[in-house]
Amino acid sequence: MSKKILITGGAGFIGSHVVRLFVTKYPDYQIVNLDKLTYAGNLANLTDIENAPNYTFVKGDITDASFLDQLFREHNFDGVIHLAAESHVDRSITDPMAFVLTNVVGTVNLLNAAKNSWKADFSGKRFYHVSTDEVYGSLHNPEDFFLETTSYDPQSPYSASKAASDHFVRAYGNTYKLPIVLSNCSNNYGPNHFPEKLIPLMIHNIQTNKPLPVYGKGENVRDWLYVIDHARAIDTIYHNGKTGETYNIGGFNEWKNIDLVHLLCGIMDRKLGRAEGTSAQLITYVTDRAGHDLRYAIDAHKLMNELGWQPSLQFEEGLEKTVDWFLANQEWLENVTSGAYQKYYDSMYENR
Ligand code: NAD
Repeated sequence: MSKKILITGGAGFIGSHVVRLFVTKYPDYQIVNLDKLTYAGNLANLTDIENAPNYTFVKGDITDASFLDQLFREHNFDGVIHLAAESHVDRSITDPMAFVLTNVVGTVNLLNAAKNSWKADFSGKRFYHVSTDEVYGSLHNPEDFFLETTSYDPQSPYSASKAASDHFVRAYGNTYKLPIVLSNCSNNYGPNHFPEKLIPLMIHNIQTNKPLPVYGKGENVRDWLYVIDHARAIDTIYHNGKTGETYNIGGFNEWKNIDLVHLLCGIMDRKLGRAEGTSAQLITYVTDRAGHDLRYAIDAHKLMNELGWQPSLQFEEGLEKTVDWFLANQEWLENVTSGAYQKYYDSMYENR
């Protein structure tokens, strides 16, 4: 059945994979990608589908409530998949208010726009909020996993803002019966990843022979999922998830940061034809991030058992694919790191 879906944050890392999946897999859907094109948004992530007849890009800011009301009036959306966010923990430590505005106020604006537009006629409608496992805080017992029922205990301004937005989404489901669904996913990696994040940063620095900064002793543990598997999970949950429910998404794939960096160094030595152990010499331990959570680990059994989703790639295979993508897309990396795309799109859209 034909649907019109608003995807927010579709020019970002995960959003671009979600937009591509929906545009290509559902040619009878109309997909509208709303993105502010901050430093993290990049339309070069979507050049292969930008002319697809079922795809439209709209530049806009979710903190602008009247703009959103107008957009919903124009388009009469059936569904919203909300990914737009400020997403980098380190930036949230230096500028928490930007995270409150986009992640909390922006999400409430979107909820209001959907509520006003749907006017309590919710048949066939869905508001999907894409969130993070960081809302659950840090695990200390190695046998523990985050379940959908785990209490929230956010530790950084980023995770606090995502936790607040999750609470607002659930509150709109409870109070106004808005047909909501949420997911909380572990760390993603893969093509289009902005090079301030661990894996692309390390790939870039190894390639350019720069130090590889590892926080503290590198003991922090993260659960990693290939971004395309996250996009597939979002597709599954959007279509088959139960209204009002939350689904955890993860790969059962825990790595200590230092072990992950060594694994990457080995892959990069091989790809760049360097002697084994060359890249690892670049590892440099730096002062730990303030309030750094020790371990995140997701239990994704609910999603697997109830909706039949499975990750498609083993970690080593996904990491190889990711390294290959970054090595083959040097121009993308150069433009992102030099800010060239940001300047280009700022000038392109400044008069609209
Ligand atoms: P990203 O930073 O790569 O992309 C965010 C996108 O949102 C960008 O394109 C940016 O331009 C856009 N945006 C930011 N502020 C906006 C605003 N005010 N109005 C409109 N657009 C705006 O982030 P990502 O890593 O792709 O994460 C996407 C979502 O998934 C986020 O909600 C994040 O919390 C969640 N998430 C991320 C991960 C991860 O590992 N990256 C894991 C779990 C959940």
